[in-house]
Amino acid sequence: MPIESINPATGKLLRSFDPLTPEATREKIALAAGAFRDYQRIPLDHRALCMRKLASILEHETDDLATLITLEMGKPLHAARQEVLKCAAGCRYYADNAARILSSEAIPTEDHTYVRWDPLGIILAVMPWNFPFWQVFRFLAPALMAGNVGLLKHASNVPQCALSIESLVRRAGFPRGTFQTLLIEARQVESVLGDERVAAVTVTGSEPAGRAIAAQAGWLIKKSVLELGGSDPFIVMPSADIDLAVETAVKARCVNSGQSCIAAKRFLIADEIYPAFESRFVAGMEAMKVGDPMKDTTDIGPLATPRILEELEAQVKAATTAGARILTGGERMLGDGNYFEPTILTNIPRTSAVYREELFGPVAMLFRVQSLDEAIAIANDTPFGLAASAWTRDPAEQQRLVSELQCGAVFLNAMVASDPRLPFGGIKHSGYGRELSAAGMREFLNAKTVLIAAPRPNL
Ligand code: NAP
Repeated sequence: MPIESINPATGKLLRSFDPLTPEATREKIALAAGAFRDYQRIPLDHRALCMRKLASILEHETDDLATLITLEMGKPLHAARQEVLKCAAGCRYYADNAARILSSEAIPTEDHTYVRWDPLGIILAVMPWNFPFWQVFRFLAPALMAGNVGLLKHASNVPQCALSIESLVRRAGFPRGTFQTLLIEARQVESVLGDERVAAVTVTGSEPAGRAIAAQAGWLIKKSVLELGGSDPFIVMPSADIDLAVETAVKARCVNSGQSCIAAKRFLIADEIYPAFESRFVAGMEAMKVGDPMKDTTDIGPLATPRILEELEAQVKAATTAGARILTGGERMLGDGNYFEPTILTNIPRTSAVYREELFGPVAMLFRVQSLDEAIAIANDTPFGLAASAWTRDPAEQQRLVSELQCGAVFLNAMVASDPRLPFGGIKHSGYGRELSAAGMREFLNAKTVLIAAPRPNL
């Protein structure tokens, strides 16, 4: 099957690539293995120099790279520009902080003891299309700064982004083989991970992909990190700034045309403020401009592929069949491109499938809750545990939310967003391990204990 780059706004084929043959794939793994032998010895200062060059290239070529992102996966161009600039910031963060994160940690004992951080070798990254640059950069910046080398199996609908990232890394001065794109199909991942030269794997994507790859990694006893789906709650209590909460709710649901793992997906609103919140939320969703992602005025572009559109449409239909009510939207939009109306569902039965599913598009699930207890109970009543946003000015409620919400991050009075300085990742079916910050960098390092015996007095 060719790997095709298709414009989701028009359905037109942009480019098509043949997947790598098994032999060509093995050659790239061999190149990576050879590159690692030398690269791990390159001084950190030199790696940082290349990483800063990479950031500069991203900053200088933002418009061209953003256009490529929008053409391949349909996010609004202004959001694609922000994504490219965020990648540059991620590169700079690791260029500036790697020395601190990688410095050995002295441990006081009667001997000379410390922990040093060594790279593992070749890390395979299996990545999704929704942030086709940022997802890759938040892996590659810490990996390359730490002395690891990377192999990227990107989502099959963004091959041009995948090739472009490989070329950017080379142009920044990183040695040949330190970061390579493998244009392969999902079924070819098994043989790459099975190669003994590949040390570990990081997966960002759906639960089935994570489950399959982690099962193999577990069998092979290779380290894995999983960043999977989410159905993040957005809780609003009576003391919140309602205007700001509604404005943020719309943004948090529609970010990246609704296709973000940390987009707010379930809105749990306190009874007292529910009517005011509902009417303003509906108005906010209806005001979103859906259309040509190349226009600066567009808020929501097409969904990335026809399959995603069909799945979302089927989920909304199943929800209404189960008894949910549509407050606005609910339909795919006519014409070319994979467009879906911004939608709000309410009265969602807790026994329905959609109640426990992730909705990967601009569809919100709205719930009315009678108490903080109920809000926390519904928030936690999901297989996922990625992040949560909660709105309250009451310190006692804040304390309960941060301690009782079962997820990898809680943001109070703010929208959940990733930041290179902060650990990112989930629990439950949202995965395990962390990306970003020092925690993310150390996932693919060997914490090697060193003991140098102190001279013992002669007895
Ligand atoms: P997906 O179908 O799982 O694809 C993600 C990647 O995994 C792609 O490269 C895909 O390759 C590959 N893949 C799929 N099945 C595989 C298998 N059985 N073995 C090996 N590789 C496999 O995910 P998606 O639908 O494109 O992406 C959306 C999902 O990603 C959502 O659930 C979203 O929440 C999640 N996500 C999570 C985070 C996070 O940080 N937690 C961030 C972004 C997205 P092909 O494209 O060739 O199938």
